[in-house]
Amino acid sequence: MLINLRQYHHPHDLQEALRLLRRLRPRTVPLAGGSTLIGSEDRSVEAVVDLQNLGLHYVKMDLDSQSVLIGAMATLADVSRSDAVRRVYDGIIAEAAHRSAGSVLRNQATIGGAVAVADPADELLVVLLACDAHVTICASDAIQLPLAEFLTRRDELLAEHALITEVALSLPQGQTGAAVQRVARTPADAPIVCAAAVLSFSNGMCTTARLALGGVSETPVRLPKVEVMLTGQAVNSELIEAAAEWISELVDPIGDFRGSAAYRKAMAGVLSARAMKEALARLA
Ligand SMILES: Cc1cc2nc3c(=O)[nH]c(=O)nc-3n(C[C@H](O)[C@H](O)[C@H](O)COP(=O)(O)OP(=O)(O)OC[C@H]3O[C@@H](n4cnc5c(N)ncnc54)[C@H](O)[C@@H]3O)c2cc1C
Repeated sequence: MLINLRQYHHPHDLQEALRLLRRLRPRTVPLAGGSTLIGSEDRSVEAVVDLQNLGLHYVKMDLDSQSVLIGAMATLADVSRSDAVRRVYDGIIAEAAHRSAGSVLRNQATIGGAVAVADPADELLVVLLACDAHVTICASDAIQLPLAEFLTRRDELLAEHALITEVALSLPQGQTGAAVQRVARTPADAPIVCAAAVLSFSNGMCTTARLALGGVSETPVRLPKVEVMLTGQAVNSELIEAAAEWISELVDPIGDFRGSAAYRKAMAGVLSARAMKEALARLA
């Protein structure tokens, strides 16, 4: 509960929302689905700006930019059901959005909220990273940047009273396969570690490799060194096993009650290898 909440605003215009958020007093924050914010018990929050009426609920294919565009207020249910999302990257974004939460939470939580919260093991963010998603952020200006960069600069960017307005996915180029793998206490639990791979090929050679992991650091991460190792190669089981071994060495997770550091390191390699093999098997 936000026990010090005194003001509730529901603007119909993005500029008005940004103006309200820029106020230093009362302390004002964006309200999306509210699944995390309402339960946060943050006593410093005195006002919220509800993003419901800003027209950011869309999920659509944009043929001009050859991208799938997802408004920040699209719920996880909207994302998991969207034909446009299901048709790209072997449907792994829809799959991750569906698995991220039960149906009540899926109908409440939004993709913008998930990006803002940046949970370390959020499977949806892991697949978005592997699909090279870009995020649009509006403060005084609108900027679009790769999700990977947003996650490293998140505190600085959101401290400027910025709003995340859109997540964009470029359509895959050439022969592309994608897969996501996870380990959790039960199939319905949040992942302890998860890995996603997107591999594109031309004439038998890997032209683009993108790998992402969750549950091994403060936010989900890409693995650029391993991606470079795979690019330009004819990827086979041997190379995948070598890459997986390197991934286990590269990551430096912190252990907790859900999984020790050693377990997370081992799973990072195992799940990455499984994701890469499945992506290869799915090559379109
Ligand atoms: C019971 C429960 C279980 C959960 N399980 C999982 C899980 O398994 N995996 C997982 O990853 N997450 C889980 N979550 C967390 C939750 O699903 C995500 O954090 C969610 O996506 C938040 O979305 P929201 O729209 O509800 O955000 P809100 O709660 O409205 O906002 C969350 C934060 O993000 C900010 N924010 C929201 N939208 C924007 C925006 N467009 N621009 C800038 N800032 C913004 C808000 O100000 C707030 O600080 C769980 C939450 C609950 C309550």
